[in-house]
Amino acid sequence: MDVSSPRLDFSFKAYRRPFRVPVRTSRGLWEMREGIVVRVADDDGRVGFGEIAPISWFKTETFVGALAWCESLGPEVTEARLLDPGKGLPCCAAAAAAAVESMRADDESGSTPVDAKRVPVAALLPSGWAALDAVERAGELGFTVFKVKIGTGDVQAEQGLVERLVGRLPDRGKLRLDANGGLDARTAARWLAAAEDWPVEFIEQPLPADARDDLSQLAADHRVPVALDESVLTADDIKRWRDRGWPGLFVIKPALSGRTADLVAEIAPDPGSFVFSSALETDIGLGAGVGLALRCGVSRALGYGTGAFFHDDQLGGSIAGPWFGAPELEGINPAAVWKRL
Ligand SMILES: [Mg+2]
Repeated sequence: MDVSSPRLDFSFKAYRRPFRVPVRTSRGLWEMREGIVVRVADDDGRVGFGEIAPISWFKTETFVGALAWCESLGPEVTEARLLDPGKGLPCCAAAAAAAVESMRADDESGSTPVDAKRVPVAALLPSGWAALDAVERAGELGFTVFKVKIGTGDVQAEQGLVERLVGRLPDRGKLRLDANGGLDARTAARWLAAAEDWPVEFIEQPLPADARDDLSQLAADHRVPVALDESVLTADDIKRWRDRGWPGLFVIKPALSGRTADLVAEIAPDPGSFVFSSALETDIGLGAGVGLALRCGVSRALGYGTGAFFHDDQLGGSIAGPWFGAPELEGINPAAVWKRL
């Protein structure tokens, strides 16, 4: 055991949050979000929180695997052990880093300073024709970036809907089209070609996660940027894609991304290529994720305007307004979420 590493009180609470409407995924319907919130405290009474929010089809650990790790730590743990869960536990590593970071910020000197500038928030639109009213309502609230899921139905009908959405965008409004890996190479090329006539910020994960050559080819062949989501989990994945000369963008779910320091090192040289996005966590994971985004100096809209995925259980997890910065971050209260669970 590392005797020089500070000893911390460690506790955790597992939770299950039913989705208001089951979420359609490549693995079928997702009905229940299972996660774990962790709390650490040091001898000075400083307290920090983190959240383990695995999504197993992103090849993270499972909820049960994460629970076993929490149980293995016991009520007292060295900081060094907490911060190094070992291979295969990226969500545990991300939560441990967030907990220690927020504990360090929990004193008179205040939290780590974040960039004063506000970043826009992307609003997730409902599927189907309901998106048309939703884009107008969100536009009236001041949102300018909107995310739409594609690749679940007939391509012509979906493109017809996107065309109508474009007509209802506010000034300087932009769309993100997320296929969740659901297209084939030919259909993806059709979408990228069509998107040249629309204000599309990027097409997200047009092909399955492991279609590396086809994804690289698509990105090279089209002017509209391609963003990787399911294809990248941790800093190592980002490194591998960069080594392959990936010309596009990266969508990062910081809750799934492993050690925060490694992630920050990959983002620092080019924050403009990164989009931070929700893993459908509570406000504990959300606060950690958007806090990191602000510290990294990202400028692209935050993918945390997810709306009402859950019943009103007061655990949060979505940003309601079109802009997010230091004052909004101050308003997030992890201790309240901990207490409610
Ligand atoms: Mg995505």
